[in-house]
Amino acid sequence: MAVTLEAVRADITRLAVDAIVNAANESLLGGGGVDGAIHRAAGAGLLAHCRTLGGCPTGEARITPGFGLPARHVIHTVGPVWRGGSHGEADLLAACYRNCLRLATENGVKTIAFPAISCGVYGYPVMDATRIAVHETRAALRSGASGIEPVQFVCFGDEVWNAYQKVLSVPV
Ligand code: ADP
Repeated sequence: MAVTLEAVRADITRLAVDAIVNAANESLLGGGGVDGAIHRAAGAGLLAHCRTLGGCPTGEARITPGFGLPARHVIHTVGPVWRGGSHGEADLLAACYRNCLRLATENGVKTIAFPAISCGVYGYPVMDATRIAVHETRAALRSGASGIEPVQFVCFGDEVWNAYQKVLSVPV
């Protein structure tokens, strides 16, 4: 059974899902963009917890509680910085989605929302990143065994929204 993938226009910090994904940096100590918004909304407990984790390499993921957020968990992942495409960026971005969904499954997460990882300050071309997000998510959840349903892709701005409309409308 195919998992439901939805594009939504929202502020990810407002979503009452089992887990929201944070597009973090390797320090896991907060930053700009969605990372800053998540830390502001979660409160100081999230930063204190993240300090105990010792960072996270690009392509990997770590799970924490949501603290003051409506979401129960935050899954922090570190997307690649776009450096022209020949530095393993596509594999690293795919690994982010796979590792987040693996952690979600291991922690009983059923509803999850992703931001457009690497599509802000990290400069990943939005259409390419969107194809990877959708392809990896479908591949990871194909068996239906995880029970994750639905997956929301949170679109902040028209470019990301338009990319998801296009990619999700292609029949599979
Ligand atoms: P990265 O460093 O991985 O590029 P950014 O946070 O700069 O991460 O951007 C990732 C995406 O998250 C961008 O599309 C940006 O517009 C979006 N974004 C920023 N704030 C929010 C938010 N509050 N909710 C959802 N998405 C957001």
